[in-house]
Amino acid sequence: MTTLTFDSLNPATGEIVGSHPKHTPDAVHEVVGRAEEAARWWAAIGPDERKRRLLDYKAIITQNLKDLARLVHEETGKPVGDATLEIVLAITHLDWAARNAYKVLRRRRVSTGMIGLNLAATLEYLPLGVVGVIGPWNYPAFTPMGSIAYALAAGNAVVFKPSEFTPGTGVRLAELFAVAVPEQPVFQTVTGLGETGAALAGDPRVKKVAFTGSTATAKRVMAACAENLTPIVAECGGKDAFIVDADADLAKAADACLWGAMSNAGQTCAGVERVYVVEEVYESFMRELSDRVTKVKAGENYGPITMPGQVDIIKRHIDDAAKSGKVVAGGPGSVRAPYVDPVIVEDVPEDSPAVREETFGPTITVRRTRDAQEALELANASAYGLGGTVFSRNARRAMQLARAMRTGMTAINSVISFAGVPALPFGGVGDSGFGRIHGADGLREFTRPKAISRQR
Ligand code: NAD
Repeated sequence: MTTLTFDSLNPATGEIVGSHPKHTPDAVHEVVGRAEEAARWWAAIGPDERKRRLLDYKAIITQNLKDLARLVHEETGKPVGDATLEIVLAITHLDWAARNAYKVLRRRRVSTGMIGLNLAATLEYLPLGVVGVIGPWNYPAFTPMGSIAYALAAGNAVVFKPSEFTPGTGVRLAELFAVAVPEQPVFQTVTGLGETGAALAGDPRVKKVAFTGSTATAKRVMAACAENLTPIVAECGGKDAFIVDADADLAKAADACLWGAMSNAGQTCAGVERVYVVEEVYESFMRELSDRVTKVKAGENYGPITMPGQVDIIKRHIDDAAKSGKVVAGGPGSVRAPYVDPVIVEDVPEDSPAVREETFGPTITVRRTRDAQEALELANASAYGLGGTVFSRNARRAMQLARAMRTGMTAINSVISFAGVPALPFGGVGDSGFGRIHGADGLREFTRPKAISRQR
């Protein structure tokens, strides 16, 4: 039933990296059927054995780190060093999920809060069964592992549909899992385009879908899930704001801003795309930023744009911003498909595509604001709300701004990528999606709470 195949290409060279079956809806349903049985077995072996197997899996990925990193490099075009870091972060998630699942999900006594009734009660978090994971191409190993590891550790079987641009990485991750857990197909992949993902989301035996991708696709996945009331975690796009307050360390802020905007060629859901700087330090900050950006080059500091269609979106945003704003670095000439050099544009109107829509490229818009309050208001005016950054030496003020930012995650005085932090919940608000992966919240996402009361 998986008769047709498709090729994945190296975006830098155009060479074929691998050929993969296009799973038809029937083929997807067969895989889900096998996963259902595997889910029962995996749930029954218990938390200690699951932890042992997941740590074996971690050891196997570690042994294969170089090969996996090379595959990520070939499929995405990103430098081998970045690809290696990506695998290390995937391992970090796997380790955390394996070691913490029992602690977070085990049965415990709870106080019921009922007055006058002598009730004893317990609460535990049980596996759901089969979890469908649908992933993007920008971080093909570590982004899906942020769902897969937690779903497996919580006792579920996983069927993973990797992006059609990076299928080989997903397939390899599942093959390595089968070395640690050969008895049952607890972690399988289905490969193909959107129809394959839609078939997975629409299968009534899939008890939860963990989707990471664009907001537009999340809506289609939700529609497919609606038929069976299948719940979904949606990790979608972002348009992260970066606020520089009057008392910020400007050198550190400029370093962080550039890294946050340009790493992975800006193809990061929680990448810096909008910068708001208070008037008093605007000129000084721009000098720091302009000095640094001259040293950053596509093809040297970061790789190509992985998905060919993305180059057109980036180009449209840059062309439009360059017409309405003032180019500080790069400009329309920065686009040398599949590479895009850094672009910084000032004074771009807040309603232009480069400020409103996700660009997903190495580009930032910068705007001068009266004060930090105005910066916050502009930051919060986005439909997206994934991550954000505040730079200020005043700890109290920084905390106030961070708390008031309408995002799932805000960093103070750094642009740590929350996606790599296992113990903190990851996710956004608004068009950035809903639900949380990673950490204790991420483990619980893949369970059903089970309450039992007993009359004493
Ligand atoms: P995409 O939405 O085009 O595709 C994501 C996945 O959905 C792919 O595997 C694709 O084949 C599948 N798909 C497409 N149509 C489908 C359908 N109708 N039903 C089910 N599945 C379908 O996204 P992309 O271009 O691969 O990834 C880039 C996007 O992902 C960006 O918006 C980025 O911000 C976002 N992203 C978000 C996070 C996060 O954690 N919030 C992380 C990484 C990427």
